[in-house]
Amino acid sequence: MIEEGQVSIEAADKIFYNPRMEMNRDITVACLEALPDITSYVDAMAASGIRGIRVKKELTRPIDVTINDWDIPACELIKRNSERNGVQVSVSNCGTNTLLSASQFDFVDIDPFGTPAPYINSVCWASKRAMGITATDTAPLCGAHLKSGIRTYAAYPLKTEYYPEVGLRILMGKVVREEAKYDRAIVPLLCHTTEHYVRLYLGVAYGRAIADTMMGEMGFIVHCFKCKSRLTLKGFAVQAPEVCPACGARVRVGGPMWLGPTKNRTFVEKVIGIMETGQFNKKERALRMLRLIRDELDMPTFYDHHVLCRDLKATPTDMVVLLDALREQGYSASRTHYMGVGFKSDAPVNVIKGTILKLSIS
Ligand SMILES: [Zn+2]
Repeated sequence: MIEEGQVSIEAADKIFYNPRMEMNRDITVACLEALPDITSYVDAMAASGIRGIRVKKELTRPIDVTINDWDIPACELIKRNSERNGVQVSVSNCGTNTLLSASQFDFVDIDPFGTPAPYINSVCWASKRAMGITATDTAPLCGAHLKSGIRTYAAYPLKTEYYPEVGLRILMGKVVREEAKYDRAIVPLLCHTTEHYVRLYLGVAYGRAIADTMMGEMGFIVHCFKCKSRLTLKGFAVQAPEVCPACGARVRVGGPMWLGPTKNRTFVEKVIGIMETGQFNKKERALRMLRLIRDELDMPTFYDHHVLCRDLKATPTDMVVLLDALREQGYSASRTHYMGVGFKSDAPVNVIKGTILKLSIS
């Protein structure tokens, strides 16, 4: 028996339960609590059923929950687990794409073992108001398995020091392109990369104009591996420079990927409020991450403080000191949730390097 959140569940031998996803499920419950218009929810790849059972049990309002798995023993387990927790849910025994091509729900959630890519089209079709997508195939998303990344996401994932963010943006780019063909747009609510998974919470908006605007936020990152300078180019038919504007070295190009916002700050604030007052086992860790996301500059790419210091043969100062020094020069700067030693700033790379060197000497 496993205790998680306000439920206890049985996990059979061959049916997957991942305790490392508890924080992910805590945040799912808080996000759904923060979306009062959602009245129907499906976990379309459920395994033990824990996510859907928690949503049904822990939300403070009634919600119709469907829990789907293609495996018959898993469905029997889901039925036992929902009875054990005294919740009424609809249990469905279908393939994920079969279910999602035949039915629509306010919120569609998928948490597959591995890549979500084969299901994203049907998730987009079936999500009326919002969706939650987990990806655990971070190696192809982040550039570690290049060919697999290109096959799965039709994007070139540059392996840079900000690779966790590239992975998140390539996954978002895939969702954006699937959503756009239905004349719909995604509305980024909260997206994060944690350990070995990416998780997206996206709202849905309707109309050609908003879908066109969204497509305008797709594009490429041009990265200089020599001086760490980078720039973004929006659009699909871009003209990328061949050499780095900062140092003249040859640059590399990654994408297409989503270059627009990855959160809605008001929504993140609301989720933080729910997390602070609610009962969640992984509350402290989740809150640490959510506050970082709230305060993070909403712009593509970040710098790895230690990589820059290594290149410059400089001693790393406290991150707070560095960020303050950049702000004093009129630039924006913030920590990032992607990496403890990472930071975001709109200062040019040469200004950042000069600041690091000055702080290292004094
Ligand atoms: Zn350069």
